[in-house]
This record gives sequence, C-alpha cells and structure tokens, in this order.
Amino acid sequence: MTTTSWATKPLAGWGRYPVIDATCARPESQPQTLHAFDERHGDAVLAHGFGRSYGDASLLSQGRILLTTRLDKMLAFDEVTGLLRCESGVTIGELIDVFLPRGWFVPVVPGTQFVSVGGAIGCNIHGKNHGHAGCFGDHVRRIDMLTASGEMVSCGPDEHPDLFWATVGGMGLTGVILSVELQLYPVESAAIEMESIRFNNLDEFFAISAESSDYFHTVSWIDCVKGGEQMGRGIFMRGRHASADAAAELREGPLQALLERAQRLLDGRAFQSNQLLNRATIRLFNEAYYHKHPAGELHSVVGYQPFFFPLDAVENWNYIYGERGFLQYQMVVPEREAVREILKVISKSKMASFLAVIKEFGDRDHGGLSFPCAGTTLALDFPNFGAPLLAMMERLDDIVVEAGGRIYLGKDARLSREMFRRMYPGWEEWKAVRDRWDPDRVFQSDLGLRLGLVDATAA
Ligand SMILES: Cc1cc2nc3c(=O)[nH]c(=O)nc-3n(C[C@H](O)[C@H](O)[C@H](O)COP(=O)(O)OP(=O)(O)OC[C@H]3O[C@@H](n4cnc5c(N)ncnc54)[C@H](O)[C@@H]3O)c2cc1C
Repeated sequence: MTTTSWATKPLAGWGRYPVIDATCARPESQPQTLHAFDERHGDAVLAHGFGRSYGDASLLSQGRILLTTRLDKMLAFDEVTGLLRCESGVTIGELIDVFLPRGWFVPVVPGTQFVSVGGAIGCNIHGKNHGHAGCFGDHVRRIDMLTASGEMVSCGPDEHPDLFWATVGGMGLTGVILSVELQLYPVESAAIEMESIRFNNLDEFFAISAESSDYFHTVSWIDCVKGGEQMGRGIFMRGRHASADAAAELREGPLQALLERAQRLLDGRAFQSNQLLNRATIRLFNEAYYHKHPAGELHSVVGYQPFFFPLDAVENWNYIYGERGFLQYQMVVPEREAVREILKVISKSKMASFLAVIKEFGDRDHGGLSFPCAGTTLALDFPNFGAPLLAMMERLDDIVVEAGGRIYLGKDARLSREMFRRMYPGWEEWKAVRDRWDPDRVFQSDLGLRLGLVDATAA
C-alpha cells in the first residue's frame, strides 16, 4: 500500500467558528483507513464526517484528521427485515435515495440529510420523533471500528456493550467507526401527512404538544424576538408517513414559505457583508413568517424533504452569517419554567436568533455524553456577536444547569469544563470506559480537550 497523503487545510464545523488548520487524509477504503492510522507518526487522531456538527466536535488542531466521506459503500441489505450494513461515510440522504424507493426509511433523521452515518452515531442524533423512536443509536445493531490499539473491534448492544454505548454519542473519542449495521423501518410512501398550527405563546405550544402524541414526528418553529403576551409564539408542525392513497394528494405545503424566504435572504448577497443580519431583519423575518401562516390549523400532504430537511434546499445557508460565523445554542431542560426564562433573556437582549426550533423529547436517556433526555429542547442560531453573545450564553448555561438540563455537544463551541461536568453527571463513567479502550489517548478532539475528556489530568 502506498504512503498516505496528508494535507493541511482550513477546516470548520457548520457554524464556521472556530476555523483551524487541519492535517487531513481522505482514505478511500477500510484498509486505507487502517494504513493511514498506522502512518500517523504518534499524533492524536479524530474522524471527521461532513462537518455538520457546529463547533469543534469534529476538529483537532494538534493531530491528524481522517475524513470519512469516501468510506461510502453500501455493503449488504436484507429486503425482508430492512437490516442494512454500510460504511460510515454514507450519508443519510444517500440511504434515503437508495432505500426509500424500496419502501424503507432511516429511523431517525436530523434537520439535514448531509450527515454521515458515523457522525450520526458520534453525536447520537435525535430527530422529530424522539418520543417514539429514541435516538439514532437505538437503531444501530453493530459497529465495526478501529480502536486505539490499531485493531478492528466489533461492538453492539450485546458485544462489548461498554465500547458500543461509549461510542454512541461519544463524539468520535473512542475510535473510528468503519461500518455499521442499521435497522431501517418500513414506509408506504415518500410523502408526509402534515398538520401545521399557529400558536400564540408558549402555553399554547405545550398544550398542542401534549395532544400530539399520536403523531410520529413533531417540531415547531418559534419566534424568539417577541416578548410579552406573545412570547414563544410560533408554528407547530406534526406529521406521519402518508399511506399510499394519501400520498396521491401531495402538494406544496406552508413549509415552502420558509424556504423561499430563506433563499431570498441568501440571494441578497448583502448579508455576506455582515451588516444586515441583525435584530431588525430577524424581527422582520419572524413577523413575516408567522403571519404567512393563517391562524388555526392547515392540513397538507408534503414531500419528505421539505418536512425533514427544509434548509437543505438553501445551499450553504450557513454563509448567511458572513465571515464571523455563528453559534448555535441547543439545550434541553426538564422544566418548562426554564424555557420561559431563557426566552425572556433572549428577547430582552439586543441579540436575536434567526432560526429557532422547539420540541419536546421523550424520556429515553442514554447517559454518557448523549444529549437527549426528557424535557423541552430549544435550538437557536445566533450570528457571532462576540463577547456580548458569549456572556449571554453563559447566563443561559446557568439557567439550564439550575433546571437540571444540558446543552448539545454536537452544536457547542464554547461551554466551560465546569459547566459541562454539572450538565453531564455521567461523564466520569463514560471517561473510564474510554480510557480503558484508549489508555494512551490516541483519539482526541478540540472539544474533548476543552471539556477535559481526553487529557490525563482531567479526572
Ligand atoms: C441544518 C442542520 C440541522 C441539524 N439538525 C439536527 C437534529 O435535528 N438533530 C441532531 O441531533 N443533530 C442535528 N444536526 C447536527 C448533526 O446531525 C450532527 O452534528 C451530525 O453528527 C453531523 O454529522 P457529520 O457527518 O457532519 O459529522 P461531523 O460533524 O463531521 O462529526 C460529528 C462528530 O462525530 C464524530 N464522527 C464522525 N464520523 C465518525 C466516524 N466515522 N467514526 C467515529 N466518529 C465519527 C466526529 O469526530 C465528531 O465528534 C444538524 C446539523 C445541521 C447543519
């Protein structure tokens, strides 16, 4: 086998903050991945999928990064049971393209289809169906991975379960996932029967959410600029895969409005000058989007793409924030009062979030570094306003911690070590497993170093 070609290039997550100079290789096969690992010259290593985590989870400034995008082969599929074996660089979108026409769908999908299966396991992603289906890791039957000893190890719920559960949501810090066995689920059509409902405030959101348990998928857009009586107003979307008959009614739904507006914002290149995406324009966008939806309930049958992946239609929308990049703040809190407090802080601040999404999780909690647990999750994108934004986020951290909640590491670029430990009480148990499999701390990341997950002195 020829020598691995390593190249140094700028690399960032989806938030484009931070940006690092990374030493990377892009192996084309599993043997080439093992070979590259052998040729790391004693450096630390990290796998990087499609860089759709927002902050520094997929970055390693001092070490080597293995880009997994060419590990993209489908290996086996059982047409009867829906059990799939594929390499870790295959994307959710590719799985849907290949298996939806055969009547199978991916059990848990995030808000974009451009994520790898390895990244979906690394962040143990959640979808709009957490209450019904749990997380991505709940549907993984087996992982073949490259561990720190340089050996390939298979793990699953019944085989090396310690390694398996430390890898699910383990942010790439237990090894490189090479291939995966994933259980797909059967669907009758590619369409979604959807209802969207405008709500006037947070109480109405919780009321609709409580009576939506029959819907497999739920998510809401929320206006986080509005304060007072209408604080927490928004649009609730709930849906299920349509039967073959219902799918015949497929037509454009109200989600199209969001896409068109977002596309117009991007087309107006002015945003790239960093000047215009401010509280005033975000307020205007929110007003227009909220009022675009009539009061009450709308029924429609829509394609799965605008329902699950509305922003994928807007290419490179993360560039809307210009050079400064942006930060996402996604948290989950068991107590509703904390959601109210968080919205109050944001609406009173001079900073606004362009995209804000709210939903309620079910009660499945995998512990370790895995994010979802029972409660309400809120995800907010903020232009990088610098020090005032970081200060506000620290204030939000206090509210989250006090309420027994946590923030999503896959979206984080700035959480402190101390706060992380309070939010994730299972971290020491996770670290003990990781240290058993990687005593020499071969696998590292900038996030892992920041949070004290990979250095010898951290415990
Ligand atoms: C528009 C948008 C919407 C999103 N919506 C959601 C959502 O609804 N729910 C949700 O949970 N997340 C969501 N995300 C976050 C995204 O799903 C996760 O960050 C996902 O992990 C990204 O996959 P990736 O292939 O880009 O991985 P990367 O960002 O490259 O890596 C993520 C982590 O996984 C590790 N990793 C990647 N590949 C491997 C591998 N082969 N072996 C071992 N470790 C690996 C990396 O080291 C890193 O720690 C969203 C992101 C975007 C941009």
